[in-house]
Amino acid sequence: MRRKDFLKTGFAAGIGSMLPAGNKTTAPSPIISKARNIIFFAYDGFSWEDFSSAQHFARRNFGKPLHIEKLFQTGSAGSMQSHSLTSMVTDSSAATTTWATGQKIVNGSLSAYPDGKELTTILELAKARGKATGVVSTTRVTHATPAGWIAKHINRRAEEDIAKQLVEFKADVMIGGGVETFSPELRSDGLDLYKPFFDAGYTIVTDPERLASATGDKILATLHESHIPFEIDRKFQDIKAPALKEMAQKGVEILDGAKNGFVLQVEAGRIDHANHRNDAAASLWETLAADETLGILMDYTDRTPGTVLIVASDHGTGGTSVYGVGERYRSSSDIHDLLKKRTASFPWIMDQLGSSPGRSLIVDVIEDSTGVRVGLPEAEMLQKAIAGEITMPDEAAFPRQPIATLGWILKGGTNENPTHLNINYGTTQHTAGAVPAALYGNGVDVKPFGLVDNTDFFYWMTESLGIQYENPEMAAEKALEFY
Ligand code: ZN
Ligand code: MG
Ligand code: ZN
Repeated sequence: MRRKDFLKTGFAAGIGSMLPAGNKTTAPSPIISKARNIIFFAYDGFSWEDFSSAQHFARRNFGKPLHIEKLFQTGSAGSMQSHSLTSMVTDSSAATTTWATGQKIVNGSLSAYPDGKELTTILELAKARGKATGVVSTTRVTHATPAGWIAKHINRRAEEDIAKQLVEFKADVMIGGGVETFSPELRSDGLDLYKPFFDAGYTIVTDPERLASATGDKILATLHESHIPFEIDRKFQDIKAPALKEMAQKGVEILDGAKNGFVLQVEAGRIDHANHRNDAAASLWETLAADETLGILMDYTDRTPGTVLIVASDHGTGGTSVYGVGERYRSSSDIHDLLKKRTASFPWIMDQLGSSPGRSLIVDVIEDSTGVRVGLPEAEMLQKAIAGEITMPDEAAFPRQPIATLGWILKGGTNENPTHLNINYGTTQHTAGAVPAALYGNGVDVKPFGLVDNTDFFYWMTESLGIQYENPEMAAEKALEFY
């Protein structure tokens, strides 16, 4: 269902949050001329509130605005609504499918309806027309967001099967994490999925330090066993991992030579993972790493005629809220700077604590890596959570435990004397609100595009590539019959 139908029909009575199916209309396209290359840069789990947090942090601490600010000020930009076929809250697999196919599906699947019927993705359409294709991500390359542009599966978690589909499709560029879904030592079926790529002439890279010097016109680079480690740990804990910008740069460098242009999806995939854990600093550093990458992609777009850069979040995660503190909220920005004192991700902190930490160890480890000294009652709360006894309220909103309790105990202070970071999370789940989206580059109309739907992006891409294609639609009521 396209945006206009949604506005027209709204929420139909009797089916709760499910949205009614409707006839398609043609949303006005903000892309006005034909593109040779498309780069789609997905920020997973990135809300407007995350945007503000990073924006203010960068201005105050680096003395300059972020590239994403520049993008939103000079480009065609707005907000995107993201509901899936049968839920007002989308997951990443339904969201990425909608970008890649123009159709909404049920959460948890990749480019497939619950009856198994498969959808055709923009990468397939582009490849069939002689274009090169690629995916780059800080997650495993078989994880939902990159995989949805290639694979079809009713279960996004079947990543070993999804890896087989990546073998079938053979995108020219696949760079991210995920050795575990290709390696014969780590796959449950013992298959070596590097071999077919090697046989097909791919450059295979598994050592992050060899990425920069990798050459060739086709590459499979899996640079970590699972997801690429968090940027905050890469930066401050000396964890060996590639930066997103290095991966994206290599992807663009390889695709740049493609005779008929290319379609490349790049993903900052772990803003979402940090927000699921209510880890504001890990989220911030993922966003800052994404922003460096965005700068590189905007430069590339500027100097490469016929390139369109699309930037969009797939949904919000965690319900981040940066709140005002102090007299006339005047302490808000100072206290937000406490983010500077955070030097490790929550998973890293939890690893240091182990499975049965004492309260004083909890207090010390947290102080070392966040600059905040929590009290013994808070330490005890985390101690209990690690032991499986959850004492923070609202299990429905905070099911990811014990890590959410760590975020919870880092809150506190008084309005007169704020001592703790002024970022609150409403949940460890995804959220429904509209998220940032922007277009940049070749022939992009600079008008803001207001509120769009995630279905619109597929049609902008096909239109700018000169492709006419419509995937089959499934009504939400029909989809629900399968569950
Ligand atoms: Zn997502
Ligand atoms: Mg993702
Ligand atoms: Zn998520």
